[in-house]
Amino acid sequence: MRIVDVQALYLRLPEIQARTDSSQDALLIRIETDAGVTGWGEVDGCPAVAKAIIEAPMSHTLVTGLRTLLIGEDPLDTTRLWHKMYQSTLYYGREGAVIQAMAGIDLALWDIKGKALEQPVWKLLGGRFRDKLRVYSSNMFQFTPEATADRVRKAKDNGFTAAKFGWEPFGKDLKSDCAYLEAMRRAAGDNFDLMLDVGLIWDATTTIHRARHFEPFDLFWIEEPLHPDDLAGYGRVSTAITQRLAAGEEECTLRGFSRLIDEGGIQLAQIDLTRCGLTQAMRIADYAHSRGVLVANHNFTTDINTAASLHFLAAIPNALVLEYCVEPSEISRNLARNPFKMQDGYMAVPDEPGLGFEPNMQTVEKFLVRSK
Ligand SMILES: [Mg+2]
Repeated sequence: MRIVDVQALYLRLPEIQARTDSSQDALLIRIETDAGVTGWGEVDGCPAVAKAIIEAPMSHTLVTGLRTLLIGEDPLDTTRLWHKMYQSTLYYGREGAVIQAMAGIDLALWDIKGKALEQPVWKLLGGRFRDKLRVYSSNMFQFTPEATADRVRKAKDNGFTAAKFGWEPFGKDLKSDCAYLEAMRRAAGDNFDLMLDVGLIWDATTTIHRARHFEPFDLFWIEEPLHPDDLAGYGRVSTAITQRLAAGEEECTLRGFSRLIDEGGIQLAQIDLTRCGLTQAMRIADYAHSRGVLVANHNFTTDINTAASLHFLAAIPNALVLEYCVEPSEISRNLARNPFKMQDGYMAVPDEPGLGFEPNMQTVEKFLVRSK
């Protein structure tokens, strides 16, 4: 079987807003083979940039667009092709956008591998440790404590057993932050996990001080209080606070995660499959496991990310929970022919060959940005 085409499909809502989930635009990867098997992947990064990285022609052996590297290759060779893409982009890659573009391609290759071998991806990753994942409802903070508490009640009513809230207006000052967490905990009751995503806005001293005052609210984790480059700060925070410290969604490489784990001392590594790819995510999860660190996914995009996350978290021993964004755009809501559904707080791991995602082509056509 050979790869005959790699397409980067840029989908975009007519209007883009600053505050929403990340699926108001999306970059889907579609890989075709000469055997008629098609694989789907996704990149959560800057869609136009990732598309250019895929479509760029070869400049020389260390600066090559990804598509040209893959045409004629065997799509089952996921590890070798990851290495080929990495080596052939050394001068402009190794981190960020190039790795994100490679990640989307890697997901599509795993989808092809599963379909061609008639196995779900979790089976090809080495088998599953669980057949369902506990799901948490992932939200933005609302603009008052009561409106945020309403979201907690809604999550509970919908069957979730955990919810996360993130970003502004949280983080401004201690008094307002405690008012939010108090209202949320009151709405949640005792048997419901609450997670906090600070949104990269504090320094280590502020984080340690706030975390001490947040202890009565029994947070399941505190996520990304600091800028991702402040590894020394993460190191200070992780030894000083009693809550679990989570981070990683900006990282695209094993190198990035190993520094967050070893220097930053995080206890939960949050891996975005549409930024790391399955091939590399398995290595990151292995490394985390060897350091006693738990793993969750990061997912603020479409059902392709959800599908990849389900297979990945099923296939590693140190998975904690599945992130599921409850603020989907029209693209995200309507992209899958059979959207993944949460039931009683859990999501089932797909058993279909491949990733178990099939696109609704009407949605793809409706939001596709056509090149001029
Ligand atoms: Mg986050």
